[in-house]
Parts: sequence; C-alpha cells; structure tokens
Amino acid sequence: MVSNQELKIQEFNDWFNDIISKAELADLRYNIKGMVVYRPWSTYSINKIFRMYEDVFDKTGHQQMIMPLLIPEENFFKEKEHVQGFTPEVFWVTEHGDEKFETKYALRPTSETAFYFMFSLWVDSHRDLPFKTYQRANIFRYDTKATKPFFRGREFYFFETHNIFETYEESYDQVLEDMQISEDILHVSLAIPFIFFNRPQWDKFPGALNTYGADALMPNGKTIQIVTTHTLGQNFTKPFDVKIKDINEEIVYPYGTCYGPGITRIYGALIGVHGDKIGLRLPFELAPTQIIITPLYFSGVDSNKIEEVCLDFATDLDKLGYRVKIDDQKEKRPKERFEYYEMKGVPVRIEVGPKDIDDGSVMIFRRDTNEKTRVCFADVFDEIKKISERFTDNLREQADEEFDDKLISLDNYDELKEELEKGKLVRVPFCSIDMDGKACADQLKSETNGGEVRGVRMDISEIPEDEEKCIVCNKKANVFVYVAKSY
Ligand SMILES: [Zn+2]
Repeated sequence: MVSNQELKIQEFNDWFNDIISKAELADLRYNIKGMVVYRPWSTYSINKIFRMYEDVFDKTGHQQMIMPLLIPEENFFKEKEHVQGFTPEVFWVTEHGDEKFETKYALRPTSETAFYFMFSLWVDSHRDLPFKTYQRANIFRYDTKATKPFFRGREFYFFETHNIFETYEESYDQVLEDMQISEDILHVSLAIPFIFFNRPQWDKFPGALNTYGADALMPNGKTIQIVTTHTLGQNFTKPFDVKIKDINEEIVYPYGTCYGPGITRIYGALIGVHGDKIGLRLPFELAPTQIIITPLYFSGVDSNKIEEVCLDFATDLDKLGYRVKIDDQKEKRPKERFEYYEMKGVPVRIEVGPKDIDDGSVMIFRRDTNEKTRVCFADVFDEIKKISERFTDNLREQADEEFDDKLISLDNYDELKEELEKGKLVRVPFCSIDMDGKACADQLKSETNGGEVRGVRMDISEIPEDEEKCIVCNKKANVFVYVAKSY
C-alpha cells in the first residue's frame, strides 16, 4: 500500500494542487484571487460536514441564526484589539451605484460585532443565560499571505458560535464542550487526528482572553489550524453594553465564547491527511459516491447480461441506503476507469465482467487498504456492510499512526532545527506562552526557517522538571510547547 509518508515535504504542495484539479474539487480560474469555485464533488462532502456540525450544535443547546453579511463600521470599532487585529484584512463596502454611503460597511471577517450588538437588545436577566447561537457563514478576509485553495482563501466558509454565560467558569466549560465536539466530528467521524493547543498570547484571536486552536498535520509536517475556540471574557459584552441582572438583582456583564470550525479548511485537511499517491480518499460517510459498479466489456461478449447484473446490484444497494453509481465510461479501458474513481476517493468498487458472471462472483476493491477480494454474489451485501463499518476506522488508524510518527520531543536547539526540516512536530521546553515568551518565539522562528510555537497541549498536562531550561533563552522552562511550520 502506498502511504502518506511517501508524499515527501516538497512533493506535497504539487500533489495537493494536482489533486484539486484532477479530482474536480475546485476550479481556480475564477477571476478574483483567493476566491475559488467549489465544484460538486467537494461541495457534496462540505455540506455533509456542515450537517454533522448542525446536528451537534442543535443537540448542545445552540440555536441557529442567519445574520447580515455587512457590519457597520461603528460596531466594528467598539473593541480595540479586535479592530486592530482585523482592520488590515477587512473588505469595506463604501458605495451603492455611484453614490458613497455615509458610513462604510465591513464584509464580515467574523461576526462578534454583529452578534453582540443584537445580544444587547435581547438579554437582560440571568434567566436569559446561557445564550448559545450559531450561524453558517462565508467570511471575507484579505489575507496578505499567498492564497491557497481550501487552506487560505479570501472568502471561506465556517460556522461561528457566539455564546454568553453568567460566569467565566461556565464559559470555560463551553470551550471544553467545543473541544469534545471537535473530537467527535473531526477525529471520530472524519478520521482527522489533531492536537488542541492553548495558543501563545501573541497568537490569539484579536479580542480574546485565550485562544485554543486545533492543529492537524499535513504529510510535509506543516500544521493546519482547522478549528479554534476562544474565551472572550467580558471583552465584547462591556463595549456592546450586553448586561444582565444577576440573582441578587445586581447588574453584571456576561462572559463570551466563540467557536469557529473552518469547514473549507477541514475539507482541505481531509485531502492532505487521507490522500495517497493514487489520489483522494474520503471517509465512507462523506463520499458523494460510496460504491462504484464497473461493468467490464469485452468484444464478442453479451454486454446486456453484464449491465443487467450491475443494475440489479445498484438497485439493491441503493435500497439499502448506499450512494451507488454505475460507471458508464464505456469508451475507456478498465484500468483508466478504475484509476479515475480511485483518484476521486470512491470507497468501494464492484467489478462485473463476463467471467465473474459465469463464476457467480464479483471482484470488490476497497480504497482504505487498496485491496481486492473475490466475493460470491450471495455475500456481496454482507461484504459491503463490513467494509462500510470498518472503512473510516481504518483511515483513522492509518492517520493516527502517521500523526504519532511525526511527534517527537527534544531539548537540543540544533536538533530542533534539523527535525523541523524533516517535517516533525517537536515538543520542547520553553519559558512562557505569555507575552514575556514572545522574544524567544520570534528568535526561534527566524532561526529555524519558520518554526512556530503552536502552544501548550490541552488534552494532557505536561509540566517540565525543575532543572529543565527554555530551549531558546536557557532560563527556567515553565511549559512544554510544540513547534512546527504552519500553513
Ligand atoms: Zn525563553
């Protein structure tokens, strides 16, 4: 089997760009830089991910809303750090027809300043809390770095939850719930391994107290942040005058959180994590077509009989709830037809040829292990069921193994430089992820050709021994951080 590991550091970018066009995931020819056209094959799966999230949000007490795309300048300027952080990236709408607006409007780069404006009108008692909302949104950010389809666009798709609570503790519990939601969807359902980090203070969301970001790893060892969740404290409730009467009738300001799963990024991560040299591999639940039935024609053979068998299988599998299609590329050779759907990441192929019909059996190919098995007609449905149940688990086990292989722990600066070049995510002792550690992080980044301090791990507690020193400044290490290059 060809593994992801073979997609070496330099090869990955070419492979990624190639698969986007060959598998018809996105068309980059739309004539605005950074805004891509998502084609049906990716859009189908992206919508599935949206629905997975909506199910979980609904079950965890979030209410879905639809907010305006435009945010007036005055909202936007209420939170100082927020405006400083986002201003360079905002698209402004300044006129209608040839007349200027009196104020300008931001195309939402994120919607805190829209939601909190409304929260101030909606909540006034502790009985209104917790108030948990979310929306599907397209987001506009004029990012100065090079754009990359799925990873870094100027328009992209995500969910934003906006929640407010009476106490900080409740808001922190929400952040933990967001992490659990991420585990359930991203790791369990989509088989993407990741680590949640408490981001350094210099790398947090503008306006947040703390930012917690989940990083997945690409085959070249670069991290990709796929979701973030933030404690906002009272940083938005105060300037927007969102206040409530608590149980003692005292006026207090609630505590905010927001969670932003980047859906197009998650899909991009999926391409990178599960893809192999043949092409795309998709979790069983996500694939637009789960089973492709390939009739094999040979000259001098009655093709009607073969097509009839294919149609019978397709009808029965469809009734069982699978998304199934018959490969109708009659003009192409079998090898080309196989490769096309393998490259598109269709999980299962059933091959039906004249010999198979004589035998009363078919050949079944599965994309998780790239193995073929001969199965007699009577056992086909059992076999498909077995594959469908194991498929995503297999992808997850392979991905977890590759993820673990990339994790190492070091306390030697020279070795750190070498290992980053090899595409590793490296744990090192470090002085601090508060602002006093920023100088060390800056130095590390410039001396390691772009190695970034991603933060302190949230899923396990790791505390350095007394004698351990920061890998950069050699002062006492207070934390273990993870360093990697990043998208
Ligand atoms: Zn240091």
